[in-house]
Amino acid sequence: MNEPTNKKNRFGKDTITNIPDDAPIAKSPGHKLRTSNVIVDRKVLADEEKKLLANRPDSKKLDKLEDQELEYIKYEDQVGLIRKPPEPGEEEKKVEIPNLFTGPSFRNPPSRFRFDGHKMMHHLDRIAAWQAGEKFAPIHIDMGLTKFCNTACIYCYAVVQNMTKGTMIGRDALLRYIEDCGRLGVRSIGFIGDGEPTLNPAMYDATVLAKQLGIDTAMATNGIILDMDRADEMLRDMTWIRFNLSAGDREGFKRVHQSTEESFDLLVEKIKALVRTKKENNYQCTLGLQMVLIPECFDQVIKEAELGAELGVDYFVIKHCSDSEYKEIGIDYDNYLSIEDLLKDAETYSNDDYVVQVKWNKIMAAGESDLYKNGYRKYDVCYGTPFLLQISGNGKIYPCGPFFNKERFYIGDLHEQSFFDTVMGDRYWEVHQDVVESVDVHKDCAIGCRQDYVNKFLWDLKNGPEHVNFI
Ligand code: SF4
Repeated sequence: MNEPTNKKNRFGKDTITNIPDDAPIAKSPGHKLRTSNVIVDRKVLADEEKKLLANRPDSKKLDKLEDQELEYIKYEDQVGLIRKPPEPGEEEKKVEIPNLFTGPSFRNPPSRFRFDGHKMMHHLDRIAAWQAGEKFAPIHIDMGLTKFCNTACIYCYAVVQNMTKGTMIGRDALLRYIEDCGRLGVRSIGFIGDGEPTLNPAMYDATVLAKQLGIDTAMATNGIILDMDRADEMLRDMTWIRFNLSAGDREGFKRVHQSTEESFDLLVEKIKALVRTKKENNYQCTLGLQMVLIPECFDQVIKEAELGAELGVDYFVIKHCSDSEYKEIGIDYDNYLSIEDLLKDAETYSNDDYVVQVKWNKIMAAGESDLYKNGYRKYDVCYGTPFLLQISGNGKIYPCGPFFNKERFYIGDLHEQSFFDTVMGDRYWEVHQDVVESVDVHKDCAIGCRQDYVNKFLWDLKNGPEHVNFI
């Protein structure tokens, strides 16, 4: 064993094999076990194994030859096994079987929610319609239900979206729109937008109606004024509820959300009650926390990871703070690079029931990520808006949130025309085409926009390499 074989490899070095001297050697290469350039006859080995198996009544019993020593290796939750060779000088009583190491191996961590990516491959019918140049309904719509809020988070992107106190989508227009989404085949709607959704009292009925029509809904909320009398219906009918919380204690909450410490206590109590109701009724609604990362909450990251575990929510996700094309929020993406270790620490709070995840692809906008390199996107054209549409809290439709209030990209108003007719009409598709033809995503767009992952996927699809059949 381990002796040079007098054979040289292509680098001119002696080849050394770890196979036993008496291992059956195949005469010619082919579909056989190969160690360096010595070819072992796998078939003969298999016959030996079969003989051993035939003598073993319990198939789960570990096969151990007489006088053979086994060494166990433990790595995380896996146990590996090495069959040790006989002691030197001891008479060999068994056939040596090489290559039977069953050691621990790498396992990819589970990706329960795919926060840091997209799910476009689950909607191939819409992709096919796009490729065929047909009109098609959005897979998902993010929409605000109001244009105002009861907190004033210091990272809020909505401040550049023309917030107006008291403005919200009217009840009739909202319910009519939900019906149109059902007719069109919209698959999901997120009440995620410029204003706080729970300030629109029609949100609850819209959710119940959407469920009846087969549309998934979700909500991102600060949770403070969530109507607990209707919480049961929300847990029953929503796919997920995410709390916009960028603090793990009262003081951090007051600082980052510019709200009161009492509001933090109230929110914590509401989340606890929701977790309890969900468990009691076996509702499938996912409950999570989301931190928008800014330097002012760096000290809150670990505290919130702990809080999420204590509350019993399903996840805690940490995302980048979007900034406008004019950098109005003032985010310095280089700051994120300095707390990589802290963010990795936060992820260690994950367990089977609780996911803590950082959206690395966007957090690393200042470095190398799948989406960005030095702040530039890894795609040049935005094709994503017809797949993932955004509607403002005043009912006005635009291709995306960063273009709210930009008249050139205004599509229509839910109060004035049916959403079904809008999607089937010309203006809707002219605006999406305008985005494709005129927008320079590296200059005209918000950093970290919602459509980023989808855009990257569609860009790669549209700009395929040659010889695609050679997969
Ligand atoms: S890439 Fe630009 S146009 Fe497209 S969704 Fe993002 S911000 Fe809007």
